[in-house]
Amino acid sequence: MPLYRDEAIVLRTHKLGEADRIITLLTRENGRVRAVAKGVRRTTSKFGSRLEPFTHVEVQLAEGRNLDTITQAETHDAFAAELGADYERYTAGTAMLETAERLVTEEKQPATQQFLLLVGGLRAMVGGERRPGQVLDSYLLRSLSVAGYAPSFRACARCGLVPPDSGHHRWFNPSYGGMLCTTCRVPGSAGPAPETVTLLGALLAGDWPVVEAADPRHLKEASGLVAAFLAWHVERGLRSMAYVER
Ligand SMILES: [Zn+2]
Repeated sequence: MPLYRDEAIVLRTHKLGEADRIITLLTRENGRVRAVAKGVRRTTSKFGSRLEPFTHVEVQLAEGRNLDTITQAETHDAFAAELGADYERYTAGTAMLETAERLVTEEKQPATQQFLLLVGGLRAMVGGERRPGQVLDSYLLRSLSVAGYAPSFRACARCGLVPPDSGHHRWFNPSYGGMLCTTCRVPGSAGPAPETVTLLGALLAGDWPVVEAADPRHLKEASGLVAAFLAWHVERGLRSMAYVER
């Protein structure tokens, strides 16, 4: 069977038979890959804890007719050990893994940008310098953009009208893709504070000085809008989002 190597983040695992697991990976070169890890649930397994969710690994796989098989794994970063100690970071990290799995919909289609975003996001999550909620929000907006659902926080998402100076439109509607001008406003749109809209743009751009200077009220409002935007673009809501403190 042909072998290949890749770098990956373990997104999810589930049991298979007596001692095996199916491991869902987001790889750098091959996109999302589901592969079998044989004997991984035995205490004597050569894989140890290297194929647990969050782990950044270098893997060797053997191509199979159905599923590939993981033949080797070496750890780059055991993010799980660092995230496991902090409930807030752990739940936010779990929402990131689930989002990555949902947004990379095709197996074995290269999704390098998604892979790099996830590695960067997890690194920021364990780094501890930024608040977990904002690391998550920034990651969600960027991964949605890479998946083709870039939100518009400045120009009207419907007619493209750009507000004068550094102003903002007043209405936000996730189903239309972002902010709406007064003419395009549809019923059910939210009317966030202008500071919240500035903050959303900063989260998308990774403009951390603006994010860190933001008022908790606006951080909270932004988180709610990001969650609504995400929920609109993934078919069913994410299980893990229910555990993220907002
Ligand atoms: Zn408009």
